[in-house]
Amino acid sequence: MEEIGHTVLSSFDVPTSMRVYVSYFLIGLSGTEGLLRMGFHIPPFNSVYHLHLHVQGLPYRSVRSAAKYPISPGFGGYSKGMSWFAEVKQVIGILERGGRVGVMPC
Ligand SMILES: [Zn+2]
Repeated sequence: MEEIGHTVLSSFDVPTSMRVYVSYFLIGLSGTEGLLRMGFHIPPFNSVYHLHLHVQGLPYRSVRSAAKYPISPGFGGYSKGMSWFAEVKQVIGILERGGRVGVMPC
């Protein structure tokens, strides 16, 4: 996971001296599970046509909003079930196993 983090931060040209602060920020956010959700839409169900991370405060204000970002828990050897949205931790699990994130269980 650390290696993936450095690869992502390098792609955004985040200086090494700043990476520890980015890590603290992300760790802090993940510690508020239940209040915050971070994830990605999966093409072709993406809302805009570039890679972007959704950071959302919970709970959702409407059923319609919640339906746009469905979380499908993993099962068996899968990190996620069938869904057009994947949480960051699901994506990391899939990529660490050398998989590819898709709508179907992966
Ligand atoms: Zn999106």
